[in-house]
This record gives sequence, C-alpha cells and structure tokens, in this order.
Amino acid sequence: MPEINVLVVEDEDAIREMLTMVLEQAEFLVRAAADAQQALEMLTEKSPDLILLDWMLPGISGVEWAKRLKRDEVYGEIPIILVTARGEEEDKVRGLDVGADDYITKPFSPREMVARIRAVLRRAGKFGKGGRIEMGGITLDIDQHRVNIGEIELAVSPTEYRLLEFFLTHPGKVYSRAQLLDQVWGRSTYIEERTVDVHIRRLRKILAEHGREELIQTVRGFGYRFSESP
Ligand code: CA
Repeated sequence: MPEINVLVVEDEDAIREMLTMVLEQAEFLVRAAADAQQALEMLTEKSPDLILLDWMLPGISGVEWAKRLKRDEVYGEIPIILVTARGEEEDKVRGLDVGADDYITKPFSPREMVARIRAVLRRAGKFGKGGRIEMGGITLDIDQHRVNIGEIELAVSPTEYRLLEFFLTHPGKVYSRAQLLDQVWGRSTYIEERTVDVHIRRLRKILAEHGREELIQTVRGFGYRFSESP
C-alpha cells in the first residue's frame, strides 16, 4: 500500500490514543493533535492525506476548523471525517454542510472507522492515483491486489503479494532478511528469518513459469534484491 498519512485531532487522551493505535494497526502513518492549534502546526509541517477531526474541541471547535480548512487554498482539498458523540440528523447535515467528507458518530467500531476512512480516501483518489506499478514485465494492481505478467494473473498469496509490492517499490537495493521481515511482515510479528527464504523460493518458482525468476536476486551473505539488470 502507498503510505497514507492521517492526522487525528482529538482532545480526550484515551480516545486519541485508541484512534492512533487502531489506525496504525491498519497501516496508516498517524500523527495526533489535541486541538486545532496543534493540528495546524502539524499540518504546515507535512500535509496529511486525511484528517480525522473531533467535533467538540477546546478553543476552535472541530466543525469550525473544518469550515476554515475547506475554504483554504492550500488545505481545502484534504478529506475530513468529523467524529462526534452527537448523532442527530441536524448535526450530520451541519457537518457535511461545512464541507466534511464524512461523519462518524461515537461510539463506533474500529473496523467501521477504518472502512469509512478507506472509502473517503478512495473517493479522493488517494488509493487509485496511479494504482499500478510496472517493472520487469510485472504489473501490480495496488487497488485490487493483483499481479500480472502480460495478460496472465499470477496466483500469489497475500504475503507474496506484499513481498512483490515491496520489491517493486524499492528496486535495485539489497535488503537483509531481517529488513524484509520488518518491512513486509511488520515489526510486531515474531517470525524466523528463514520464512523469508521460503516465500522468496515460492515467488521465484511462480516467476520462473514466466521466465522472470532472475528479477529476484540473492546477494550472498546479505539478502535479496529486486532488479531488472542481472
Ligand atoms: Ca472532544
């Protein structure tokens, strides 16, 4: 997946931490602010792909800040999801009126929240933009998690897909087994390094059926590299 930056703005510590955790588990890059002032500072540092904004904030309210942002020339395009404890239809209308892209009512399930975020990002074209990577005759369709060589779709497992996606987005560099484990499987997983070899072997076998096994190269004593040149 491309890196997606989410800015969380929530004044209640426990909820802010919960949101951050859930979003990080969903593999978003998360920054969190306690109020609009702090959020604005983070915004100017680096523009996020989406803002998850609590309605009730001290100082400038979430809905007021959303209104200002949506009028802003630089930040007006950033999708905003308003989060609120108030569930009345009137509030929803007001939230969408100021330009929020969606509206979530507390309490909500983490799964639902992530799904809503993904939907808003898709609509904003954050996932779809150039959702294809091509290299060495391999085409990855990032939106659909499909891999093709020419017209033929390869039967890869989700792990092998992620491994290929990592290689295609980081070509030409050597990665150790430990680095691949971190990047592809995630730091939190406890997996032996030889698991990497098992998946590499399987990927190569699949690629070999199309005469492309040389794309994944073994660098003795260090690890693996994906490269179009031998
Ligand atoms: Ca609040």
